[in-house]
This record gives sequence, C-alpha cells and structure tokens, in this order.
Amino acid sequence: MSRKQVFQFLEMPREMPRRIPVELRTAGDWGELYGRFGAQEARHQSGRCLDCGNPYCSWKCPVHNAIPQWLQLVQENRISEAADLCHSTNPLPEVCGRVCPQDRLCEGSCTLNDGFGAVTIGAVEKYIVDTAFEQGWRPDLSAVEPTGYRVAVVGAGPAGIACADRLARVGVQAVIYDRYEQIGGLLQFGIPTFKLDKAVIARRREVLEGMGIQFRLGVEVGRDVSMEQLLEEYDAVFLGTGAYRYTDGGLPGQDAEGVLPALPFLVQNGRIVTGADPATTQSRPIAGWEDLIKVPDLAGRRVVVLGGGDTGMDCVRSAIRLGAGRVTCAYRRDEASMPGSAREVANAREEGVRFLFNRQPLGIETDAQNRVTGVRVVETRLGEPDARGRRVAVPIEGSESVIEADVVIIAFGFSPTVPEWMTKLGIEGTSNGRIVAGGEERLPYQTTHPRVFAGGDAVRGADLVVTAVAEGRDAAASIAELLGTQTPVRTPQYAE
Ligand code: FAD
Ligand code: SF4
Repeated sequence: MSRKQVFQFLEMPREMPRRIPVELRTAGDWGELYGRFGAQEARHQSGRCLDCGNPYCSWKCPVHNAIPQWLQLVQENRISEAADLCHSTNPLPEVCGRVCPQDRLCEGSCTLNDGFGAVTIGAVEKYIVDTAFEQGWRPDLSAVEPTGYRVAVVGAGPAGIACADRLARVGVQAVIYDRYEQIGGLLQFGIPTFKLDKAVIARRREVLEGMGIQFRLGVEVGRDVSMEQLLEEYDAVFLGTGAYRYTDGGLPGQDAEGVLPALPFLVQNGRIVTGADPATTQSRPIAGWEDLIKVPDLAGRRVVVLGGGDTGMDCVRSAIRLGAGRVTCAYRRDEASMPGSAREVANAREEGVRFLFNRQPLGIETDAQNRVTGVRVVETRLGEPDARGRRVAVPIEGSESVIEADVVIIAFGFSPTVPEWMTKLGIEGTSNGRIVAGGEERLPYQTTHPRVFAGGDAVRGADLVVTAVAEGRDAAASIAELLGTQTPVRTPQYAE
C-alpha cells in the first residue's frame, strides 16, 4: 500500500450511503433507509482502511470477517473474490451488512474511530454481496461430493440458515423446517422493511435452494412432525428455534384496549406493508398471544413505546411511518445504557421520536371503558451494577407522573423456552429457558442429546443476527465432526 493510500482517510471523510429523506419516511415510506454505494464510493470508502496490521474490526466482528482483505479487493474491483471471502466466514453477509449494530461491533473497534470516523464496513459488505449477486455470482459447490448424510434443521432463522449453509458446503443434505410459510425467522417476521428489504431474504432463499438445501415450510416441529420422527429420518438435528417468550412486565392495566405486544404488532404490520395476508394462522408467533393482532389506526394518535432495545426502536419508527401524532419512547435507564444500536436511536430521533430516559413504568392508566389513556412512570437514577454488570435503575421517590397515550406498545424483550417435545427426549434447558449446549463433555453446540445440536437465540437468549449466524455456522462444524465427515471451518480462514 502506497503512502498516499495509507493516508486516504485524511482526505476522504467517512460517508454512509444516501438515506431516504426524512420527509418521506415520516410520510410513510417503508423502503430500506440506506441506499447502496456506487462502485466509486465503495472504492473510496474501502480505501480509507489503514490496514493497521492488528484488525480489531475483525476480532470484534462475531464471525471474524476478513474485513481489511475484502476492503482491499473492493479497491481492486475484484467483487466476486470479495463475495467468496465474505461468505467464507459469514453465510448471511448481505443481511449482517444491513442490520448489525456496527457501532458496537466492527466499526466501533476501527482504529479510525479516534477522531476520523470509522470505515463504513457494514455498507461495504452490503455493496459487495448485492453487487456480486447482480453480476450473477453464486456460491460454487461444484467440487462438493455428497456424503449421503442428512440433517434436519428446525428453524429457518439466521442460526438455522447458517448451519444448513455450512453443511451443504461439505456435502451433507440439510432440510430446514419452519412453522412460518417463509424463511428468515425474525429477519422476515420481526425486523421491519426500513432496516431490511424482504427481497433480500427471497433472493437468499433462491441461493440456498441452488446450493441444494431443502425447505419444509409451514411445518411446526412438535405439532405437525415429531422430534422422534426427525431423529429416525435424519443423522442429526439442529435446533435454531429462537426466543419467543414475551416479557410483559406484569404492569397493572396492561390488558386494556390499546396496549399491544411489540412482536405481533411488528409482524402483522410487516405483513400489511409487504402485501402478505395478515390473517394467516402463521401470524401467531408467541404462545399465549393466540389472537391475531389487528394493527390499530395510529394516524394522529399518541403512541408510547416501553423499552429501549432494537425491538423498541423498530416499534417507534413503525409508528412514525403509520402517521402517529406523537411517538414517545420511555426507557428506564439513561441513553448510554440503551442496549441497541446508537445509529438506530439517531435515526428514530431524526424521524421525530421523543425519548424519555430514566422513566420506569408502573402501570397503564385507563378510562371507564378500559381504554388506555396513559402510562404511569417513576423517574429513576442509576445504582450499582447487577450480576450482569448493568447498573440497576433505582426509582426516585415522589417523582411519579403520567405520559398520556392512546396506544402503548410493550417492548421489554424475549426469552427462549425449552418445550416438552424437546425435554421428553432428554434435551435439557436452563432455569431461564435456554437450551443447554456445549460444555466440557460435549462438542460445541451439542445438547444433552448426542445427535441434537442447538444455537442462536434459543441457546444464548435474544441477541443479534450475527451471533446467531456464528453459532449456526460453528454448530455445523460440530455436526460434521460427529458424523465423521469433512468439517467446515470453525475459525475463519483469512486471505493471504
Ligand atoms: P429466529 O430468527 O427467531 O428464527 C427462529 C425460527 O425458528 C423462526 O422462523 C421460527 O418460526 C422457527 N421455529 C421456532 N419453533 C419452531 C418449531 N417448533 N417448528 C418449526 N419452526 C420453529 N438483531 C440484529 O442483529 N440487528 C437488528 O437490527 C435486530 N433487530 C431486531 C428487531 C426485532 C423486532 C427483533 C425481535 C429482533 C431483532 N434482532 C436484531 C435480533 C435478531 O433478529 C435475532 O437475534 C435473530 O433473528 C436470532 O436468530 P435465530 O435463528 O436464533 O432465531
Ligand atoms: Fe460488521 Fe456485522 Fe459485517 Fe461483522 S458481520 S463485519 S460485525 S457488519
């Protein structure tokens, strides 16, 4: 790299791809917020990489992408090779490039963060893969010999897809089961279109089918097909069933008219936005919320979203696009403690969302007809860290108030469950509903049943797309090890 190239970051500021103007977003535009770099912009932004010799970005990335190497390939316009390299560590790079909280991961660790602005890693990752696909690039499995082994994957979310992808690359037939009629898990039924266009998932399905992966959609394991049947028919099973147990907070009055759980709201609204049938029975993602959610008319109404994570941000930004009059996010800690991406908070703020930090909800206020009129909150200060190291929100006596609302959306998060169809086969769970996987006496991601593996939100609790991908990928390596076949890479192979 020449001296001029090394110092490109001095002349070339960090830039993100163009965004849909805020006036269109607030007027109801559901398109993906960020556009895509043109070839020259991608080269310029990639050229800002210092190639610092110690790529913190790669180590902070949960799948350990070979970031400096693919940035160099983009500068040389070698897009197919860059796409190969992206896929060598990450089965869903175009998705991660769009939805990873880069400010907390790769870009957050970029050396240029020291006042110059990180390299726009996620946007370049999206550019590489979208461009390669458009140019006809596809994963090349022509040298793969079929082994005759077959593995059932339960869950077509990021964890299941990543596992199936790696198995296909070593000649193991993967068959993915999902209760939904489309693949993607929360990528399809959860994350809104303004963060991830659903055409991206449809294209990935085509790619996966081209790799020989089969789907059995609209099939719920434990209801339509038993785990015993899967174990009889397949050599091993991978469980990537996600985390769908809703944390409702137990607020007094939460059964009032106008109080909505976040995920069914997002799922149903997503169906309407994408033109899918909202009345399908597969719209019931959470046990206990058996009724289909009817998305209320939010036009001109006061919406309060409780919770400050990714789901909360998706709810406030959806409410804005649905024409709500005023949208407020109430969060019990301070802004710095918000668990999601700072970029998403900034986008929400720009779209007109009001944030009330250090407000803990105490209950839902209602009128005589049991319709919501507001949320009673108490102000908090941050106390000592809890067992997980997060500072506890301590209520301040005498600081109660009411935030007026016509609609309240509860977005306190999700946790997994270990259903009876798993436990009766000896698959153990933890007290908080996570599937036990890995540990000293087992292969990584192997459950307490020797032929069953698990990963993603079902094992680690609700987290991120990229961590689910990492776990599905590495579980495939363990499955291959069990079967005694060629093992797909567990740790990344960097380019020379
Ligand atoms: P899932 O994506 O939940 O997939 C599990 C799949 O298993 C589902 O399709 C489900 O139908 C299927 N399944 C479950 N049980 C059965 C059964 N018995 N039979 C058949 N199929 C079954 N992460 C980010 O990195 N960035 C974001 O911006 C982001 N935004 C988010 C927004 C929302 C609203 C939510 C809820 C989450 C968000 N996340 C985000 C988190 C991310 O989506 C998840 O961590 C990730 O999808 C987990 O992947 P998974 O494969 O483990 O589970
Ligand atoms: Fe960054 Fe996510 Fe891509 Fe890793 S997968 S490089 S964390 S955007």
